[in-house]
Amino acid sequence: MPNQGINARLHAFNSTDDCPAQTSIAYTESIYIYMSAVPQKTFYLETFGCQMNVHDSEKVIGTLVREGYRQVQTVEEAGLVLYNTCSIRDKAEQKVFNRLSDYKKYQKQGKKFAVLGCVAQQEGEKIFERAPYVSMVCGSASYKNLPQMLVQIEAGDQRVTGLDDRETEDCFETDFTSRTNPHRGYITIIEGCDKFCAYCVVPFTRGKERSRTSDSVLAEARQMADLGYTEIQLLGQNVNSYKDPAGKPGGKKTFAELLAAVGEVPGIKRVRFTTSHPRDFGRDIIDAIDAVPTLCDHIHLPVQCGSDRVLSAMQRLYTREQYLERIAWMKCAKRQISITSDIIVGFPGETDEDFTETLSLLDEVGYDAVFTFKYSPRPNTPSLGLDDAIPDQEKSRRLEILMSRQKDIQIARYKRYIGEILEVMVEGKNEARKQWIGRTSHNKTLNFTAPDRSIPQVGSYLKVRATQSFPNSLLGELVI
Ligand code: SAM
Ligand code: SF4
Repeated sequence: MPNQGINARLHAFNSTDDCPAQTSIAYTESIYIYMSAVPQKTFYLETFGCQMNVHDSEKVIGTLVREGYRQVQTVEEAGLVLYNTCSIRDKAEQKVFNRLSDYKKYQKQGKKFAVLGCVAQQEGEKIFERAPYVSMVCGSASYKNLPQMLVQIEAGDQRVTGLDDRETEDCFETDFTSRTNPHRGYITIIEGCDKFCAYCVVPFTRGKERSRTSDSVLAEARQMADLGYTEIQLLGQNVNSYKDPAGKPGGKKTFAELLAAVGEVPGIKRVRFTTSHPRDFGRDIIDAIDAVPTLCDHIHLPVQCGSDRVLSAMQRLYTREQYLERIAWMKCAKRQISITSDIIVGFPGETDEDFTETLSLLDEVGYDAVFTFKYSPRPNTPSLGLDDAIPDQEKSRRLEILMSRQKDIQIARYKRYIGEILEVMVEGKNEARKQWIGRTSHNKTLNFTAPDRSIPQVGSYLKVRATQSFPNSLLGELVI
């Protein structure tokens, strides 16, 4: 059976009611196949964390279905319960152990439990000590070994581990991805991270940086386009340090070239990418956005802090001036690019003056959105040993000031769209408000009304005139 067919069915099996016609055909076919195969093994998967985790779970689900398992919607129905974890902030490990203790009561029913992802990699076999009813612990760098690990679990092995692959050169590549949205989907292009920012667990939990070949990424993008996807988001902890590992002499692609090539795949209307790291962000990315209209006019470039002193302590490898140089490139692009960022407040030793520099950076850049976090000490990271911890109350105070300043900036920025006609991808409908939900190329939510006679199709692209603005969204009317 060709892989593409299997992928289509996996995709359809998880689709919602808004599938296009071609998906409904695959859906009927999939019901027939699933009824005739009637898999006995069932699993329930719960996912926490970033887009990388969400997409990892799509690939894990695809792998399990290929191995004969059926996904169910509750723990009660499942034989195998998997928990894909995140450890980026807070007391993530404690939350995982609390959740696992909720699961303990199911042990008598013969259910098996598996912990996946960053907390699995970080806590390793300690999980078996604290939750002896867990029979598998697997970090993301070992997902490619899942089929063998599932066989071990089924054979009754009580301690199956996938924790030794942090030095791996391999990516988790599979033709069996179970995407839930039939219109837009993720493609991982690079895994792991070699940056070792002082506060961050990712290099410890996701292993070293390794890229997929551009041929493999492009094959997946074409396959998705054939299945009817129109939007692709390229994923990696640091997509800008993408290094094509193979290719004909002179045929290796840089990140910007890969981005452009994905944007040129017939049928693809929008391409996004995340996350970018300022140190590796090249001007060629802006050139690609200028040249290829399908590349979205939105860049997420996390700055973390506006003060050089703190940026250096964070080991971010760039200065405020270098960061602003990249912002200046974006502002010179042919299309107006929407810029968003991540900021951490209360890094050890951050003074009021440092914090004031972060506030002034917000004004200078004019972000369309900022994801703000209180610094959270993480195991193994260099900043764990730094003195000058900032009290939690002070972190909260700074966070509030930051969010309030950013809200004012957004109010002003969103207002500028009033009267403009923007293209949206239709994402759904808010029945209570009788409004359709759209997303612009800038990655802004633009809700809109449409006359009763026109029924916008989810996944279609329509023109909408913005008529009102809010701090985080726009409201408009369908242009007929
Ligand atoms: N690779 C991306 C980059 O370099 O910006 C970020 C990936 S991380 C999953 C997402 C965000 O979480 C970071 O940009 C940072 O703002 C935040 N973060 C990471 N570690 C943190 C920590 N220990 N405390 C607070 N926020 C943290
Ligand atoms: Fe973490 Fe820094 Fe790597 Fe981003 S670049 S994942 S913040 S270590």
